Amino acid sequence: MSSVTEKLYDKDSELFCFEAVVLSCEAREKGGYAVVLDRTAFFPESGGQYADRGTLDGVTVTDVRIKDECITHLVEQPLAVGATVRGEIDAELRLAKMQCHTGEHIISGLAHKRYGYENVGFHLGNGEMTMDLDGELSPEQIVALEREANEVVWKNAVVRAEYPDAETLRTLEYRSKLDLTSGVRIVTVEGVDACACCAPHVKSTGEIGVIKIVDAIRYKGGMRLWVLCGRWALEDYKSKHDNILTITRRHSVKPWQVVEVTDKQNDELLSARAALSAARRELAEVKISAATPDGQGNLLFFEGEMDANVQRGMADGGANACRGICGVFCETENGYRYVCVSRSLPLRALGKQMGEDLGGRGGGTDAIIQGTLGATREQIEAFFAAL
Ligand SMILES: [Zn+2]
Repeated sequence: MSSVTEKLYDKDSELFCFEAVVLSCEAREKGGYAVVLDRTAFFPESGGQYADRGTLDGVTVTDVRIKDECITHLVEQPLAVGATVRGEIDAELRLAKMQCHTGEHIISGLAHKRYGYENVGFHLGNGEMTMDLDGELSPEQIVALEREANEVVWKNAVVRAEYPDAETLRTLEYRSKLDLTSGVRIVTVEGVDACACCAPHVKSTGEIGVIKIVDAIRYKGGMRLWVLCGRWALEDYKSKHDNILTITRRHSVKPWQVVEVTDKQNDELLSARAALSAARRELAEVKISAATPDGQGNLLFFEGEMDANVQRGMADGGANACRGICGVFCETENGYRYVCVSRSLPLRALGKQMGEDLGGRGGGTDAIIQGTLGATREQIEAFFAAL
């Protein structure tokens, strides 16, 4: 059964509790029930915006959909047909989405005014909003757009949603993705923008609090912007601020020195790594000069963590100090990472044999082979002793 549902959210975007009559309730194949009411304040998923969340007589509403003007509520428990039920919307989530959606209209309206760009994509999920414009913006233009959008917030401009008659609609200038001539809901941000839209909005721009463009990328010849407004922008600010404070307090510096202090730490890390590599190279030389080749003339070294350059250098140095093969095996989670070098023996075939006998992968030339082995030290030593 399909019927037109009265949209309570259409007239009052701040109606969070309502009563309605259950017209139908059908079990769904995938589980749960599909409930149609005579009227609802639940905004269904549409136009890129996720549906409202909340309850009907205490039963959780998991999704809300609209088709042919009939709104269906997906719920976890059945509701009695004919009964009057009390609906409650998750007001915090709805208000956050209204802050974001009106914020999006302001940015899109300004981008249209300043650069003639159209909004060609919109996604408003739970905690995230993206909007796509069909033209590119420079970083400076993005900063200017964000500032101007916030000036609209500070002016506390009135936001209206109404259905103009056909005559008014004909003369009205508004942004729209559809070419409709009647029944068009126009959302106006006084002095800034008029746009065809079916979603609930705040009643004045001051309610948005703040508009923050948190990220922007070039996308399909235009721009994709990640924008947060109001509650979600504050949550984002708090999370980033807490992170910065954690870092800067650890280093006993001020929050604005976070880049400076992490750059400095990075430099220190790079020079410490270089010093460690130099020390390991020296140690490798000492180990090579102190080592005695086995009966076959091979030198095998079993090491812990070591960077790949030092490992290759050690295998190379060791090959000069023995008549067979020098192998350097660095321990990993599942076995060893190896490099073998020889001045006298062709290694390519050996690499293949190691792969078969020692669960290895890798390759190389007759002069040098490298890869990984899934074997123990004892197995590797036995393999080389039997060569
Ligand atoms: Zn809209």
